[in-house]
Amino acid sequence: MNRLARFRRIVIKIGSSLLVDRATGLRHDWLASVAADIAGLRRDGAQVLVVSSGAIALGRGILGRQAGALKLEESQASAACGQIALARAWAEALGRHAITAGQVLLTLGDTEERRRYLNARETLSTLLKLGAVPVINENDTVATTEIRYGDNDRLAARVATMAGADLLILLSDVDGLYTAPPESEPRAAFVPHVTQVTPAIEAMAGAAGSDLSRGGMVTKIEAAKIATASGTAMAITSGKRLNPVAALAAGERATWFAANGNPVTARKKWISGQLAATGAVFVDDGAVGALRSGKSLLPAGVSRVDGAFARGDVVVVRGLDGGEVGRGIVAYDAADAARIAGCKSRDIAQILGYEGRSEMIHRDDLVLRALAAGAPAKVDGGD
Ligand code: GLU
Repeated sequence: MNRLARFRRIVIKIGSSLLVDRATGLRHDWLASVAADIAGLRRDGAQVLVVSSGAIALGRGILGRQAGALKLEESQASAACGQIALARAWAEALGRHAITAGQVLLTLGDTEERRRYLNARETLSTLLKLGAVPVINENDTVATTEIRYGDNDRLAARVATMAGADLLILLSDVDGLYTAPPESEPRAAFVPHVTQVTPAIEAMAGAAGSDLSRGGMVTKIEAAKIATASGTAMAITSGKRLNPVAALAAGERATWFAANGNPVTARKKWISGQLAATGAVFVDDGAVGALRSGKSLLPAGVSRVDGAFARGDVVVVRGLDGGEVGRGIVAYDAADAARIAGCKSRDIAQILGYEGRSEMIHRDDLVLRALAAGAPAKVDGGD
């Protein structure tokens, strides 16, 4: 049995308490076992991203601030020192399997603001394309209380949706979800499968915002909501043992959250739901045919653009007669799109002065209008 075999792109989130021992520092043996698991997943053909906590936990030891609560600026300073050690440990552990690690530090704005989101997404996909394992953390040195995730569960869920991952694994110090917090309710029962995150499931995590639950099951259920809505399945399992990911693959106890569709269909659902498209790109008949056969929209197929839109907005794709062909997320703002309309992709850098994407709208970001009889689409005969 390999319960991970069907997943192609996997985000593994690792909690601080697994990676860092308060007394002895970084748990090198454990890290080595996870690196071996990652190498195994890659041998089986999956791409892997890691969201690793531990910067603050490591850094406070390095700075001799082990005891007591940290002030915000002490946490930030700890993260600054700890992140170097953390990144180095990952680079070395993965390096032993001839895998290159790439450090990515994100803030809330990087995942929530459209332009920065697209930049971060590009970086992650390029790292994966080049065969590296992104090792991601929140940029805790600059994140302040109001503008930070604070927990890596939700950060990992946003990373998973951003990367179009089909699975998010939360390695934790608990082995999954119980019908009630097990530490206070001895009769709590284990929940192996969640098909949908309902209010009843949320209630099982305990009261939101209580001191006990912060960073615990509440943020994990929040993460499940984010991930599953975007087509990413999620598993919560204990990371306390060595080789926890291989154990999960072999059937170790875990709570599995089913995905709503897959990442591409979820994104497409979101695109078709965007009613207020502010701009349009007009494409020639050749491009309409290419789109219908499953290709991306290249600048060469665009005749003109209309309206005001920014990179990352949903625009309407129209045929030359004005009929709607579909909708998609555009990779250029209106001004740049107009400058490269009709041009070859290889000329983009020369025209714009920067290296942009070769597609105006990538096919994964494009939803075509159905050509059913009676549909208002007027392009290529309409049938
Ligand atoms: N980003 C924090 C760190 O690296 C951890 C946040 C969390 O544990 O969820 O120390």
